[in-house]
Amino acid sequence: MNKMTNEMQQLLEEACELARGHLGEGRVASYIPELAKTNPANLGVCVMTKEGECFQAGDTEIPFTIQSIGKTFSLILALETGGFEETFSKVGMEPSGDSFDSIIQLEMKNWTPYNPLINCGAIATVSCIRSKTPFEDYLDLVRRLCGDPKARLSEKVYNSEKRTGDRNRAIAYLLKSDKILGGDAEEVLDLYFRFCSVLVTAKGLARYGMILANDGVDPISGERMVDARIVKTVKTLMLLCGMYDESGEFAVKIGIPSKSGVGGGIVSAAKCGMGIATYGPVLNAKGNSVGGEVILEYLSEKLGLHMFQG
Ligand code: GLN
Repeated sequence: MNKMTNEMQQLLEEACELARGHLGEGRVASYIPELAKTNPANLGVCVMTKEGECFQAGDTEIPFTIQSIGKTFSLILALETGGFEETFSKVGMEPSGDSFDSIIQLEMKNWTPYNPLINCGAIATVSCIRSKTPFEDYLDLVRRLCGDPKARLSEKVYNSEKRTGDRNRAIAYLLKSDKILGGDAEEVLDLYFRFCSVLVTAKGLARYGMILANDGVDPISGERMVDARIVKTVKTLMLLCGMYDESGEFAVKIGIPSKSGVGGGIVSAAKCGMGIATYGPVLNAKGNSVGGEVILEYLSEKLGLHMFQG
């Protein structure tokens, strides 16, 4: 190992160590019963550089469900197949400042969800995907961008979400009654629950973050994987809305476009074409990974990754 490799490895281990001391500050998600079974001690971080180097510490190969990180993939698919105009006629581009499952703002803004990265906005976004095989297309996109052919549906989490997802069901029917959602609300919900329940790893998500950080191009093969305008849109929304009602504080402290999910993952597209993903299922009150945030704050400071700091 050269000096640089050693240093990065050491940083990741220090970050995990530091984060471990904070895991008592939150809890594993339990509103989806199947998620409550996750081991709260799981913790890991993976960094992927544009040169193709991969650094990892802790639990980077344990599969966990993608949950709200999947909202970025839904948005890519909606923009690719439905287009910008159609998609952004159904969902806005504004941070909501409210919790991920909030409904309060729907009535206040003509029933148009504030952005695609909260539940109501993601459900509207899923309805904009134009495909005869939307789940297969979604899974294919996740597999390709994560470089993980093993990404697959967790039937257990999917069934658990579907059985208990009454709040999301309420959101979908509100959107339908106010003409934001065309088509069948149950079909859209079924897709949304499936999208949330795909199993990924920190290692796979770090590669996805790296592709986003390189504006949609795989820097190793030179292949364009996602349109540059779509990536620009997704990363901007990640910075503004990716951590729900903690997005502002996260941007000030950490300053890296990121998206979290209640499965415990956070994916980040950092400076210099670097992708980072963390996994830690213990969540804070906003539904974001406690360990992931500690790790990202440490790395942002030590590696100078804040996007508004030279
Ligand atoms: N499946 C979850 C839900 O809809 C996703 C939420 C999240 O990851 N914040 O409630």
